[in-house]
Amino acid sequence: MKSLHALSLEELSQALVSQGEKPFRAKQILKWIYEKKVCEWEGMTDLQKGLREQLKTQFSLSSLYQKQIEVSKEGDTSKFLWGLSDGKLVESVLICSEERRTVCVSSQVGCGARCAFCASGKGGFVRNLSAAEIMEQVYQIDRVLHAKSERVSHVVFMGMGEPFENYDNVVKAIHLLNDPARLGISQRRMTVSTVGIIEGIHRFTKEGLSVNLVLSLHAPNQHIRKKIIPYARKYPLEEIIRAMIAFSKESRRDITYEYTLMEGINDLPEHAEELARLLRGQQCTVNLIPYNPVAGLTLKRPEKEAIEAFREILVSEGIVTTWRYTKGKDIAAACGQLALKQAIS
Ligand code: SF4
Repeated sequence: MKSLHALSLEELSQALVSQGEKPFRAKQILKWIYEKKVCEWEGMTDLQKGLREQLKTQFSLSSLYQKQIEVSKEGDTSKFLWGLSDGKLVESVLICSEERRTVCVSSQVGCGARCAFCASGKGGFVRNLSAAEIMEQVYQIDRVLHAKSERVSHVVFMGMGEPFENYDNVVKAIHLLNDPARLGISQRRMTVSTVGIIEGIHRFTKEGLSVNLVLSLHAPNQHIRKKIIPYARKYPLEEIIRAMIAFSKESRRDITYEYTLMEGINDLPEHAEELARLLRGQQCTVNLIPYNPVAGLTLKRPEKEAIEAFREILVSEGIVTTWRYTKGKDIAAACGQLALKQAIS
């Protein structure tokens, strides 16, 4: 059965016309779903019962269901565990910060990149999520917020999976999320994070989108990168950086480099100096993320002093540097480190 969440307005109109209905019904249905947050055909009371019954057999309104929610002690971060129609599980995280309501979505079940610091990669790749399954993670959280008169303001593709390994569905989901007849989330408020799939960065550059692109860099050189990101063996760092610069020029968007600091691996002063040399002259921001310990992994978070010293070196070299406080630590909700306890236990 086709998911209504991935159907364009035209496709839905055509399906309705072929059943002898007026095309305006398509907008009516989308209004029920995205404005009134109704996700059962029975609730669409201005559609005739016969039509509702017919549509029910053709289009599904839900491709995932909420299995569990965990809320952080501070109450500002919630982790949602979703069950999919084939029994697989994925997670999304809602991060509330002042006016922002950011949803971190998964793009795959599992992940083939198997980064050393990440729980999501531990079990390897299972399957790609459809555009509807990606879209619906945001929609279902938007429904939860709607009850409090709030809405999702930002979306980041930083959950489970490498977005560019599921390129077509991720780009389709971006268009669906951006559609004014659906959630209407601005492209500028969406961010895709890649581990450095060069062909994906080039393709994304040509899409003409205003979406932000983040590189999960995590190392100042290819040697260290290969140790913590197996995909780095296939993609040379210099080439990735060149592709990111080309994206920045074409999209006129600054680049963000995410750098997870792990004690003794990539957190030494010489690493900071090498990183500054690598990024010199670029219009970019380095986002430092102190490693969030994951059960079963032996990596450690550096001491606060080491993180501060690392940051100071970058700043003194003129690199804009932020230090991301990891929200939702107690519920293992750090993006890129989602721990699917139920799925891998
Ligand atoms: S950090 Fe991202 S790319 Fe690496 S294994 Fe985890 S989900 Fe995959």
